[in-house]
Amino acid sequence: MEARRDPAFAAVLGRADLCAPDGVGILWAGRLLGHPFAERVTGSDGIYRICARAAGPGWRIYLLGAAPGVAEQAAIELVMLNPRLRIVGVHSGSPSDADWPEIQERLIATRPEILFVAFGHPRQDLWIDAHRHELPVAVALGVGGAFDFVAGVARRAPLWMQRLGLEWLHRLVVEPWRWRRMRVLPVFVALVVGQWIQQRRNKIR
Ligand code: UDP
Repeated sequence: MEARRDPAFAAVLGRADLCAPDGVGILWAGRLLGHPFAERVTGSDGIYRICARAAGPGWRIYLLGAAPGVAEQAAIELVMLNPRLRIVGVHSGSPSDADWPEIQERLIATRPEILFVAFGHPRQDLWIDAHRHELPVAVALGVGGAFDFVAGVARRAPLWMQRLGLEWLHRLVVEPWRWRRMRVLPVFVALVVGQWIQQRRNKIR
């Protein structure tokens, strides 16, 4: 929905090497429109799996973003789970241009292979895209609120809610200011259903 509103964000999605379906709405739309996805792929689950995978070969990890102290706490948790994990740096930073020189300096000094960026949507995506050619890393991934969850400063929805596809509802209850962002959801549903009807019409013809 953001990409429909903002062509610059649409271009960023188009240029990304990988766009993951992290919400239940995308899964539903994919199923209805004949492009089913196997499962949700979220930053909050992915960070654990990528760190578990990175520990063996010793890929160097950097955690950038979230409130001061949160990335540090997340790093401690991740190393507790994967004792051989090499987290080479953490920094709360910010996506503002004024912060770029310091971030760049820290990254050049620590040479991570994997950079997790937790500046929230859509800023993290715009930031990664704006710096993609000057980031001294192999991979940069936007992970939203993942550091908050790993550090334990925010709680994810209980598993039963996640299984029922209701994680968004849990976040709305816990973080009510999200309602602004969720206002577009009925429009999303209408657009997907409209596209589905169009597809069926085309098939019948
Ligand atoms: N954040 C940040 N700098 C900013 C804006 C946000 O570090 O300028 C962090 C914030 O502390 C949180 C994450 O970005 O850890 C945003 O998470 P959110 O749950 O909003 O993720 P989203 O749902 O936007 O992907």
